[in-house]
Amino acid sequence: MKKHNFYAGPSILPQFTIENTAKAVQDLNGIGLSIMEISHRSKEFQAVIDEAQDLFKELLNIPEGYSVLFMGGGASTQFAMIPFNFFNKKAAYLNTGAWAKKAIKEAKFFGEVDVVATSEDKTFNYIPKGYTVPEDADYFHITTNNTIYGTEIREDLEVGVPLIADMSSDIFSRTLDVSKYTVIYGGAQKNLGPAGVTFVIIKNDALGKVDRPIPTMLNYQTHIDKGSMFNTPPCLPIYASLMTLRWIKENGGVAAMQKRAEQKANLLYSEIERNKCFKGTVTDPADRSFMNICFVMNDGFEDYEKDFMELATSQGMIGIKGHRSVGGFRASTYNALPIESVEALIEVMQEFEKKH
Ligand SMILES: *Cc1c(COP(=O)(O)O)cnc(C)c1O
Repeated sequence: MKKHNFYAGPSILPQFTIENTAKAVQDLNGIGLSIMEISHRSKEFQAVIDEAQDLFKELLNIPEGYSVLFMGGGASTQFAMIPFNFFNKKAAYLNTGAWAKKAIKEAKFFGEVDVVATSEDKTFNYIPKGYTVPEDADYFHITTNNTIYGTEIREDLEVGVPLIADMSSDIFSRTLDVSKYTVIYGGAQKNLGPAGVTFVIIKNDALGKVDRPIPTMLNYQTHIDKGSMFNTPPCLPIYASLMTLRWIKENGGVAAMQKRAEQKANLLYSEIERNKCFKGTVTDPADRSFMNICFVMNDGFEDYEKDFMELATSQGMIGIKGHRSVGGFRASTYNALPIESVEALIEVMQEFEKKH
């Protein structure tokens, strides 16, 4: 039976990425060697990382004066690297979920953290609004897409201080004005590639403004100076990510990804609203994520959660269990998920409704 992959991360990748990466694992471009067994200093790998950087810049329209880095450590290492490189006296953070909290925890090792607003009072089911970011903050950190709770900031915020964004789970899903950001970072394993590589888009002239000594590997300048090759980068995940970048380009670029994401999300949110058995967990439509769509059993149907899960699983739905802190269901609709998978999930929801 056809599997419909709704995992939140690691998650579905384009078939193009998987097939071409599999080929390169056997033999990279006919050179008789695997992508896994060539030096990262070889001209073949240099071409891979150069093209990946160029496609990042092209697809996201990244202005002059920014660098694109590929490193290890996951988004979670960035939670510490950000304050190491940017924290002087005080930093501002928006607390929109578990990942934001983890970022805040790391920043607190460096001094005063101003959490300007939080949605923790309602299990992070909305994006706080109407807060002010203190003018004397060194930077303001946001999580644009809250993978666990299904909320998303889908606009480029205007704040008076450097804006830093964790875009692990919505990068390449909408067009961006990168010039509004000082740093954009994320783990690849949601919308780009396999786990193991972390991307960082960073404004070069924002660095060098802290006095503390920074360990070499945690200093962004090290990686900028060495073109992400100070140490051995995660070569295979970078190669696979390059395949996804080519796939995005061939399929109309980020604007086309955004259109598909909107289509898929609108279909599923409408069904959740229409279907008597389910309800969405994010009440304000403006806050709803286009990447992670969370829903629970409607009032009166709470006892049927297991039944729906069984039915959905029997019809090939994979990874729709909600995060343990929210419960219910979460359908992740990343770029690579075909619209047919969303339609298949909706069919199961309708079949379930008929039975009850
Ligand atoms: C998954 C995720 C992370 C954690 O990424 P790692 O690469 O596992 O460290 C951080 N932020 C967000 C928004 C995520 O979705």
